[in-house]
Amino acid sequence: MEATIEVTGLRKRFGQTMALDGMSFTVTPGQVTGFVGPNGAGKSTTMRVILGLDAADEGSALVNGRPYQSLRNPLGHIGALLDAAALQPSRTARNHLLWLAHSQGLTAKRVDEVIGLVGLESAARRKAGGYSLGMRQRLGIAAALLGDPPVLMLDEPVNGLDPEGIVWIRGFLRSLAAEGRAVLVSSHLMSELQDTAGHLVVVGRGRVIADTSVAALIAAASRDRVTLRTPARS
Ligand code: ADP
Ligand code: MG
Repeated sequence: MEATIEVTGLRKRFGQTMALDGMSFTVTPGQVTGFVGPNGAGKSTTMRVILGLDAADEGSALVNGRPYQSLRNPLGHIGALLDAAALQPSRTARNHLLWLAHSQGLTAKRVDEVIGLVGLESAARRKAGGYSLGMRQRLGIAAALLGDPPVLMLDEPVNGLDPEGIVWIRGFLRSLAAEGRAVLVSSHLMSELQDTAGHLVVVGRGRVIADTSVAALIAAASRDRVTLRTPARS
């Protein structure tokens, strides 16, 4: 299957900190890829480099074969949720989405479609000031879906969410992948992703320490044969 995000040998240093130290993995369509590792492992930095928000010192990150900044219609290629949506409290969620849609040349019809997809119909005409984190996450996912991108990338989307919100996001990510999209979702907890992701990229200290299907990981564990690649120290 064609890779839709391809990260190769990324290195990124912040002062004394080696945030990325040879990060390489691919994200393929039709499944959720779980990007798992402890805080500080380099997950957010990798996602920021993929979107061109941080520049890598070395290596490459391609979306559908091209660097993000060179894509003609980037929001039609990849939808991202890196932080809970920052909202003007006096604006409704629908107005927020209308503004984003307008800036992408999209219609109000598409706005109402994505509101329906994320189940925000009853709240979308209320002011966003009273929104819970779960509703802000739904709104952020709706915004990411506006351009109908084949690739979705979400950074710790269930962090701090109530159990109902977590169940919803997991199911929704699985349904996006079942439609043939590529979905990259990060978490610092393996347990948050093991039922959602078909493919796991486990990272530590800025590099991949295991890249496997969940089925293979469970099979290996049942044979007591799990081996993780130990990061070579430089
Ligand atoms: P994760 O998302 O896996 O928790 P991050 O990518 O946020 O990890 O961070 C990786 C490392 O890079 C951490 O040590 C973090 O402190 C550092 N780091 C990330 N962004 C910056 C920045 N803008 N300035 C300095 N250090 C940073
Ligand atoms: Mg992070």
